[in-house]
Amino acid sequence: MTITAQDLYNYTKCAHRVYLDAHGDPAERGDASAFVQLLWEMGLQTEREYMCALGKIPYVDLQPLPMDEARARTSMLMAEGAELIFQGAIKAGDRAGRPDLLVKCDDARSDLGEYYYEPIDIKAGRGWEQRGGKKIRFKPHYAFQILFYREILKHIQGYLPPTAHIINVDHELEEFEPEAFSDQFQLALREVERLVMGRETSEPVLGSVCHQCHWFARCRRWVEGTNDPSGLYFVGRVKFDLKKVGLKTINNIAAMKVGDYLNEPNKIPRMDETSLARMKRRAQVMLRAEPQIRPGFSFPETQREVYFDIEDDPTRDLTYLFGFIVHERSGPDSFRYFIARSPQEEERTIEEFWQFLAEIGDAVFYVYSPKERTTLRRLMERYKLDPEVFEQYMEREYDLYGDLVVKYSDWPTYSYGIKQIARLVGFRWRDPDPSGANSIAWYNEYLQNSAREEILERILAYNEDDCRAMIAVKDYFQLHAEKML
Ligand code: SF4
Repeated sequence: MTITAQDLYNYTKCAHRVYLDAHGDPAERGDASAFVQLLWEMGLQTEREYMCALGKIPYVDLQPLPMDEARARTSMLMAEGAELIFQGAIKAGDRAGRPDLLVKCDDARSDLGEYYYEPIDIKAGRGWEQRGGKKIRFKPHYAFQILFYREILKHIQGYLPPTAHIINVDHELEEFEPEAFSDQFQLALREVERLVMGRETSEPVLGSVCHQCHWFARCRRWVEGTNDPSGLYFVGRVKFDLKKVGLKTINNIAAMKVGDYLNEPNKIPRMDETSLARMKRRAQVMLRAEPQIRPGFSFPETQREVYFDIEDDPTRDLTYLFGFIVHERSGPDSFRYFIARSPQEEERTIEEFWQFLAEIGDAVFYVYSPKERTTLRRLMERYKLDPEVFEQYMEREYDLYGDLVVKYSDWPTYSYGIKQIARLVGFRWRDPDPSGANSIAWYNEYLQNSAREEILERILAYNEDDCRAMIAVKDYFQLHAEKML
């Protein structure tokens, strides 16, 4: 078995994915989603663009060669001292990888001669996450891959490159400190080794990352079949701590005495009485297979309700659709939208939406996540829009997810996302495969061929249904509120 840089990348998302990719039954493996395919395509596109931008700088392109052939050529080129190798192949023992670039550096000597090679990856994103213009954290999944290549190169050239870089989506060289990741990386590498070699199996942990994973159907079956605690909302990796103290299934959690788990030796890290009681309640709801609505919520009385949903593409840092259903006290609902038919139209689109916000009058804006407000704030800053309009919006926004579903109800599902909750109240999307990630993939397909209006119609229908799903959820709570009176 061979360990690859992709295994390290996957490990930062889910350890079990590494095990399944090496040992899972191929018959249980699903297809890559449209979004994952888009990310691959964007990755390749970014690499192509970067290599084109090099202009006259010479490099050797090994991309078309299969692994073994590329490896033999890479060894030869490194021994000859080639300046730049694109998609070379390197291997040491059971570790193998294909860094996007192998760059010859001559500020130190190695076993190869008066030079050594540094591996650099070309990424379709940025390495440093920033807040308020300050670098907060370098993405571990990027760092781990570079550190992995460095280890292999150390074996090949007898010298560990002192620096670590990636080239980001804007073709900028970003540097990070390899030592900052060293301990984490060594731990991860050892575990990846155990998983790939089959010495450790790990277990699925259901969460949002699963929706883009080709093992999702298989892991969901496993979680449901074993009554695994990660089938409960908000448990995730905490399940490993729960299992250590004997809470191995949802049935165990539903039957636990909370007081037994507040002190050593059964104390569960970061779980106090309130969070344990909440988890127990959710486990009981799961076993009854029926939602539980609690009293205490109310909805604002207004002339009109606006059910509002944004579609954006984080890979392009682009917001392309502001869709909403306006529900007047009297009269039919109407679905309206502002859409950017190209990235250049983002500014015009948000300006039109700002105008709409300024003129709507008495209204409440129902959303189903904090995303709408954070996106509006970001766009306001980007395009210098009137902050008063944003403040008024904030006063009138009602987040059905955070302020209603999470606070006043429990549901028999591992996720309280709109797709799960609305389906449980009987709502159905018209699209056979509705998801925000797919909307991004469709939008990118449209950008390739803007004559294909049917793609835009699919995006709009999906967005409208997201808004209608919010109405269904809100109506469900309204009905319960009336019954509870
Ligand atoms: S579906 Fe989820 S738990 Fe299963 S391998 Fe994929 S990411 Fe991991």
